[in-house]
Amino acid sequence: MEFCEKCGGIIEIVNDRAVCAACGHKGKKKPKIEASEKIMKKETVAVINEEADNTYPVIDMVCPECKNKKAYFWTTQTRSSDESETKFYKCTKCKHTWRKYR
Ligand SMILES: [Zn+2]
Ligand SMILES: [Zn+2]
Repeated sequence: MEFCEKCGGIIEIVNDRAVCAACGHKGKKKPKIEASEKIMKKETVAVINEEADNTYPVIDMVCPECKNKKAYFWTTQTRSSDESETKFYKCTKCKHTWRKYR
């Protein structure tokens, strides 16, 4: 909680501005609430990144676990050139993940 620098009254947030509830003095500083909102936005982005495999393209591929015919598809390239690309599949239904070497 913040207090008015003029009268010591409690600062309220009105239209994103800090305003003293007692004398109406408007604070020059941005209210602390904005900082916490930014932190919340960062946390939201992190959650979205964890769900990133939902953005992979869906292809026709039979899941070996549940025989579902759709799977997410992505590939990884290992750094050493003599190792081949690995293809990954993730069942859209049971989330079973498997891979194939080329
Ligand atoms: Zn005041
Ligand atoms: Zn499956």
